Amino acid sequence: MAVYNFSAGPAVLPKKVMERAQAEFCNYKDSGCGVMELSHRGKLYEPIIQRAEANVRELMNISDDYAVLFVQGGASMQFAMLAMNLLNGGTANYADTGVWGAKAAKEAKLFGNVNICCSSKESKYDHIPAFDTWNLVDNAAYLHITSNNTVAGTQYRTFPKTDAPLISDMSSDIMSRVINVNDFGMIYAGAQKNLGPSGVALVIIRKDLMERVQPNVPTMLRYTTYFENGSMFNTPPTYSVYMLALVTDYFKELGGIAAIEKINEKKAAMLYDYLDSTSFYNTPVQKDSRSLMNVVFRTPSDELDAKFVAEARANGLTDLKGHRLVGGCRASIYNAMPVEGVEALIKFMKEFEAAN
Ligand SMILES: *Cc1c(COP(=O)(O)O)cnc(C)c1O
Repeated sequence: MAVYNFSAGPAVLPKKVMERAQAEFCNYKDSGCGVMELSHRGKLYEPIIQRAEANVRELMNISDDYAVLFVQGGASMQFAMLAMNLLNGGTANYADTGVWGAKAAKEAKLFGNVNICCSSKESKYDHIPAFDTWNLVDNAAYLHITSNNTVAGTQYRTFPKTDAPLISDMSSDIMSRVINVNDFGMIYAGAQKNLGPSGVALVIIRKDLMERVQPNVPTMLRYTTYFENGSMFNTPPTYSVYMLALVTDYFKELGGIAAIEKINEKKAAMLYDYLDSTSFYNTPVQKDSRSLMNVVFRTPSDELDAKFVAEARANGLTDLKGHRLVGGCRASIYNAMPVEGVEALIKFMKEFEAAN
């Protein structure tokens, strides 16, 4: 039976990538060693991390004004690291559009002032508030947003414009659609949704912003340390970066982000069109804020939600349970989810509806 994994993260990886990793697992380039066993300072490893960076730059069309860094600690460490490096006792605007954004704001408060410039918390984060309702403070250090809200299933269609640098947590939609990196001061993402396995976060930061970094920030938590040492001040997460290189190689093979975006739009449209056509399932998310990555829905009852998740799993459709904070069901359809997976899900949803 084919298995389709709808996990929100760590998530499905492209099958071709997994097969290539398997083929190279014990013997990378006839070295007799696996990538995991290679010194990060060696002749074989350095080209891997350099390729990972070059792929990211090419796919996202990143100019020399930006540094591309690989950091451990996940997106959650970026919540703190960002504020330690760029806030410095100043004030930053934070958009409260979901649990991850709220966590980011909580960490920032340890290092400066946080102005919550908008919030959809009252309506259970079912939408991205319209930009003309936001209360931004002037002269902010930056504005922080979460481009895709993994738990609530909402996503920005466009991005707010401000004088302050725009900083986005893109953990769950990085490289899923074409964006203009020049619109941002910094972008960060844990790799384990769209880019590879866990263990590495990608940070894209405009170089001039690193001038803000103060000497009292610990070495390993300074962006400048990663920049000045090619993300190899100490041992990087070598295997996770290798996997990110393979995943981005594969994205290039597919024709780049524009080609991937088309497929993502198609997959999401199939699922939302079906959800809109039935009253058995419903999605709590407002239409103009729907995420193309995490499709959140419910059956008529909590009992049926649980039954749906269990029966889907028995049919090879795994990890459809909603986040523990919100319940219900959630289908995460990142770049690596094939169209056939979404077709299989819709087919099962129809059968489940008919039977219940
Ligand atoms: C998963 C996720 C995180 C947390 O990532 P970690 O790497 O586990 O810290 C943060 N933000 C968003 C939007 C996420 O989807």
